[in-house]
Amino acid sequence: MSENCLFCKIVNGTLEADFLLETENIVAFRDINPVAPVHILIIPKKHIASLAHLEEEDESLMGEIVKATSDLADQEGLAEGYRVVVNTGSHGGQSVAHLHFHLIGGRSLQWPPG
Ligand code: AMP
Repeated sequence: MSENCLFCKIVNGTLEADFLLETENIVAFRDINPVAPVHILIIPKKHIASLAHLEEEDESLMGEIVKATSDLADQEGLAEGYRVVVNTGSHGGQSVAHLHFHLIGGRSLQWPPG
């Protein structure tokens, strides 16, 4: 837990979010500003600032997040496909410094991004 971290506040319940999934290690909730019909954030409960801050011990946690992302895509009916995005650092467009995987789908998405 990191003080003043938005997503740590969601994890510990001081900021409201409806969890689509919660395990001992991760939670998933809908993005407050969706860019597509389905836009879900999957995050570790542990405060990790970004993908660039992973430690050796986080390996299985990352596996759990990726599997949960795939399962959520199934649950949300994204059979036509979807995109998983992890914005990292300032050049990557990361605005919340708590690692999060965006699951985006429900419409055709353009590539490459801007
Ligand atoms: P990023 O720009 O990759 O760091 O993504 C941060 C995401 O968090 C953005 O898509 C925001 O819309 C989303 N977000 C910010 N605050 C909240 C919140 N309270 N609940 C849900 N999503 C949020």
